Amino acid sequence: MDIIPRDQHCISRKNISDGALKVMSRLRSGGFQAYLVGGAVRDLLLGGRPKDFDIATDATPEAVTALFRNSRIIGRRFRIVHVRFGREIIEVTTFRGHHNNKPKEDPRSEKGSNHSRQSASGLLLRDNVYGTLEEDAARRDLSVNALYYDSGKFEVFDHLHGIKDLENRTICVIGNPEQRYTEDPVRMLRVVRFAAKLDFNIDQRTAEAIPRCAHLLAEIPAARLFDEFLKLFLGGSASRTMDNLLEYNLLQYLFPSTNTCIERDATVVRLVQAAMKNTDNRIAEGKHVTPAFILAALLWPIVSKQFSVLESSGEAPMVAMHSAAQSTVADAVKYMSIPRRFSQPMKEIWEFQLRLQRRTGRKAIELIEHRRFRAAYDFLLLREQAGEDTGELGNWWTEIQALSPEQRLQKATSAEGNHKRPKRIRKRRPNPAP
Ligand code: ATP
Ligand code: MG
Repeated sequence: MDIIPRDQHCISRKNISDGALKVMSRLRSGGFQAYLVGGAVRDLLLGGRPKDFDIATDATPEAVTALFRNSRIIGRRFRIVHVRFGREIIEVTTFRGHHNNKPKEDPRSEKGSNHSRQSASGLLLRDNVYGTLEEDAARRDLSVNALYYDSGKFEVFDHLHGIKDLENRTICVIGNPEQRYTEDPVRMLRVVRFAAKLDFNIDQRTAEAIPRCAHLLAEIPAARLFDEFLKLFLGGSASRTMDNLLEYNLLQYLFPSTNTCIERDATVVRLVQAAMKNTDNRIAEGKHVTPAFILAALLWPIVSKQFSVLESSGEAPMVAMHSAAQSTVADAVKYMSIPRRFSQPMKEIWEFQLRLQRRTGRKAIELIEHRRFRAAYDFLLLREQAGEDTGELGNWWTEIQALSPEQRLQKATSAEGNHKRPKRIRKRRPNPAP
């Protein structure tokens, strides 16, 4: 084990949240070990700003909750403690041990809750066997995520060459990759996600086991895949993450229909890439991004195809779009769940694409005030960027937004006038003198 002393690493307590420092010092005063671990240590060593602070300890979840009034135990697969300081939540996990070890029962814990459980295929259903710091490090996913910082002694503990992999910019699964993916297939998604986020290479063994284990992702519950989807695409590196998902053939476990369309149609690839770049740019500019927009883009190829089929079979456009949206969502959620708070706005973005086709009259202008207009307009531009022919509709809406309310009305109604004037003129024209 390597211990890196204070003067040989760049972590400063200044960059660690007060909440995390408080949790660690109180655990130490209570006679326990406590370390900052995971993404926070990794990001601090890379000179970045951690998005949250996770702590590992030898105190059981019950012992942790006994020390902090503002805390509660959550989770079943992994029991962890959330300690709350105002808006910040510090996640405290008890060191995990090896599964072949006899579990140490905590007398205060619910009977049997300290055990691990595996499915027939080797998937870890429960992982609540407690252990030492060394064992805990070995149970983590990647070497760069298995570094521990002691905020009392200012030292970094590195058991598994995490520092070397950070220096070489390499994502490397701890242990035997095939076994680690079998225990938890989501680790494959984490590998491609961190490679994209940190712009690291994927170690050869870590990469080679992915095609052999990818099919195991089909066993992951749809709700967990949605949680992972948010991390994959809302972390600021959606574009590179998507490239990795495609390179390793993993998109099919999240969006099977989209994946099939991508294989067949270059405009779909352009749409998906444009959506990812757009999301990353917005995040870089500090703008708001919603999963509904990304989902709308990823499922648009499917919904638009179904819409065309229904419309050409004689359905009214709005009815056709509505049923295409319903069936697209019903199919997608079989693989990855989509909470209603996102599926509803996503459907509205799709339905709005039809409403934006109307360029005349007061009603068209009123669309600009609609709460879904902005997202729907951005979505229209995205479709055009991907090469879809919308008849210059995007330009029209861009121009009209730059006008004053009076000018807008004039433009929309004069368009209407232009369209009708020839008829009226003919009607009013006096009969030529005989
Ligand atoms: P970030 O929060 O920046 O996305 P992170 O590394 O902190 O990255 P989390 O998902 O917050 O990632 O997990 C915290 C730590 O828990 C990880 O660094 C890793 O050590 C461990 N971990 C998380 N998920 C798994 C997993 N599926 N298998 C093994 N270890 C995991
Ligand atoms: Mg984290």
